[in-house]
Amino acid sequence: MNVENASTASGSRFRVAFDRPVVQGAALAATCDTGSAWAQVPPEPTAAERLVLKDRIKALLVQRQAVLVSHYYVPPDLQDLALETGGIVSDSLEMARFGRDHAAQTLVVAGVRFMGETAKILSPEKTVLMPELDATCSLDLGCPVDAFSAFCDQHPDRTVVVYANTSAAVKARADWVVTSSCALDIVAELKAKGHRLIWGPDRHLGAYIQRETGADMLMWNGSCIVHDEFKALELQALKAQHPGAKVLVHPESPADVVALADAVGSTSAILNAAKTLDATTFIVATDNGMMHSLRQQNPGKTFIEAPTAGNSATCKSCAHCPWMAMNGLAALAHVLQTGGNTVTVPPSLIPRARQPIDRMLAFTAAKKAGRALDGLVPHLVPHLGAV
Ligand code: SF4
Repeated sequence: MNVENASTASGSRFRVAFDRPVVQGAALAATCDTGSAWAQVPPEPTAAERLVLKDRIKALLVQRQAVLVSHYYVPPDLQDLALETGGIVSDSLEMARFGRDHAAQTLVVAGVRFMGETAKILSPEKTVLMPELDATCSLDLGCPVDAFSAFCDQHPDRTVVVYANTSAAVKARADWVVTSSCALDIVAELKAKGHRLIWGPDRHLGAYIQRETGADMLMWNGSCIVHDEFKALELQALKAQHPGAKVLVHPESPADVVALADAVGSTSAILNAAKTLDATTFIVATDNGMMHSLRQQNPGKTFIEAPTAGNSATCKSCAHCPWMAMNGLAALAHVLQTGGNTVTVPPSLIPRARQPIDRMLAFTAAKKAGRALDGLVPHLVPHLGAV
């Protein structure tokens, strides 16, 4: 691992070449360098610049008849703008659903690349713009389609379940796409119907789901550079300093961190837990971009970031995703002005990539409405496959 101190617009960070996950005992050659992502994080606008840019973006959204779809981890300005202009701030499942169902013919996705691709796959007739096309994800980078397909080909009897944080090509190789807000329910249902799974790419989320469901899962060895950094020992020490605090953990975190949680779940589940749990102080193990929505929606409550490292340790993200941080007001205004940064997905991939996403959306809609799930998840009969 290469470590080099780098100063960025976001302050001093460590430039770290991320070690690619190990697959079947062989290290993949390439690295994803968070240093170059941090170097592309725009400077904070001044208060005056912020006002001008926000007004311009609001006017351009109207002019283009576009809607802004933001993730909880992007900078607060972009979250606020989405809410102020009739868009949404949400997790990746809701972003996908909202973009698909909204009447606007232009979707502006503030998040990372796979979110823009998912919007395009679900709405190929719409224009999908992103402030930054280079904004990616360590999970996506760590799961190249050729290697992942070869892994799947070695286990043709297994149902392939992939996390939404993957490329369109990997989704096209999958039977199911899941997000952290529906993965448990879908895997539990697949297990009940006799499916044995391949799971990719997040090893921590996969291990959590395996522990919770007992499903037979072969894991891809990927991780999120943000959640992978949370540290159990330091979290225990922080808990000791705040004995009344509840701990909220995203399941992309390591198992020993998850074990300390009062609530484990997706960004939406974390928001819900902050509203409903009986506490006024919370320690939060997820990207610190979440703090904006947590504080906005829970005035009077205290939110503390979970520790990412001990003394003298280095971190790749310090609890904030460099690719999410690349989304800025100036870039958003620019793409709305120019129509640049259009997200494209090869048309030949779209029908196949859409199938597993549609399955997920149909499953979650049925579950929410209390409808039967039977037709959505086929029973497997050994040696015959799905029936
Ligand atoms: S926070 Fe982690 S999972 Fe989310 S986009 Fe960044 S690297 Fe990917």
